[in-house]
Amino acid sequence: MGRRPKDYMKNKIKRPKMKTILHAPKGMPDILPEGNVLRRKIFKLVEEMSNFYSFGQIETPILEETKLFMHGSGPTSDIVKKQMFTLKTPGGDSLSLRPEFTPNIARAYLENGMYNWPKPVKLFSWGPVFRYEQPQRGRYRQFWQCNFEILGSSDPIYDVLTIQIFYNLLTELKIKNLLIEINTIGCDNCRPIWHKNLKTYFHSKQKSLCPDCKNRLKTNPLRILDCKNESCQSLKEGAPKMIDYLCSECRNHFKQVLEYLETIGLPYNINHNLVRGLDYYTKTVFEIRKADDNIALCGGGRYDYLIEMLGGKPTPAVGGAAGVERLVEIIEKNQKSETSFKPKVFLIAIGDLAKQKSLKYLEDLRRVKINTAESFAHESLKAQLRQADKFEVPYVIIIGQKESIDNTVILRDMKASTQEIINGEKLVEELKKRFKNDNINII
Ligand code: AMP
Repeated sequence: MGRRPKDYMKNKIKRPKMKTILHAPKGMPDILPEGNVLRRKIFKLVEEMSNFYSFGQIETPILEETKLFMHGSGPTSDIVKKQMFTLKTPGGDSLSLRPEFTPNIARAYLENGMYNWPKPVKLFSWGPVFRYEQPQRGRYRQFWQCNFEILGSSDPIYDVLTIQIFYNLLTELKIKNLLIEINTIGCDNCRPIWHKNLKTYFHSKQKSLCPDCKNRLKTNPLRILDCKNESCQSLKEGAPKMIDYLCSECRNHFKQVLEYLETIGLPYNINHNLVRGLDYYTKTVFEIRKADDNIALCGGGRYDYLIEMLGGKPTPAVGGAAGVERLVEIIEKNQKSETSFKPKVFLIAIGDLAKQKSLKYLEDLRRVKINTAESFAHESLKAQLRQADKFEVPYVIIIGQKESIDNTVILRDMKASTQEIINGEKLVEELKKRFKNDNINII
């Protein structure tokens, strides 16, 4: 038997109603369907890049133990000191929303035993990061980054490959007038002397430093070079430069990075004040921005000690991140195209000259969208052929000292186990012809 309607009215639940509509948290805007169209196009392109350069996607939790960042990003970094969203769980643990990806990826590398994977391990990721900062143009509290990380090689070619990937990404997004700012901040052998000299230098200018930099002078004087405050700008001009204190290993490394950049024709500018705000960086640091704008579109560098700092074996690594919102702000809505990941060729370089040449060939192949894998960190032909086998590619390109000088390459047909010497200029055409004969789709 049902109750009568007037009983319904009497017993109706009174729900509390908001008097005003709530807003999203400051600096964390909603991304509506229209705004997502362009982001998805960027992501497709990132995926395409990762396929071409053989990066696997990794997803790490948005929350991590706070001590990961304290230890990884560094206790004196702005990110840790001022910008983390930290919470206590009901169980009493301290977790933080990730302010960046690199420490998470380093943690995941160790936790999942990726040190046993063929090296270098190439990973990319894409997702939101959180920093408590004053929202303004191109600066949010929740923003998205895409990251490329290469773990397990100290070879400078990977510093350049990282830069090249981001540069290509921006170029493919039709962002013009790009400038790569680059610097080296040395290693644990040579940096302390620079550090000491920087400290002495800024000590003598202490009175003119901004309040933040007065603090930085005590905790980490290197950070003063990063300061955007007007009052500190002119003081930086006479500051000691890392380049004058480099040990021979770091000097060589930086020299090779610059040589590789020149070989592939990327425009760079050495910026002695570029140190980037994180404790884990060593040797190369870089940012890419539009030449007529101060806002960085992406940045990164080498972090040879991070894995060890997190409890692993010494593992050199390099990587970088681009901010998706900043890309969205400048690009026109005109990108497309998708490929499936499966390298079609494997590029083998033996010796330094061959490595330089191979970067050029890599670019030739990328332009025609022939997905290419490589293992530049391995020196021997045998080790590189072993890697090529794992990818099951139909063709392998081999460049040795003789081929580098002759401008030729050895093209090896893996199925037929035959090989031929090809003029380097004709490589792309020859591969296209063979793929056509073999009925292999490039894309
Ligand atoms: P960083 O980890 O600070 O080097 O940042 C890498 C990239 O993320 C930058 O080059 C920007 O494109 C982007 N980015 C950094 N901070 C923010 C922010 N607060 N809001 C939007 N994008 C940011």
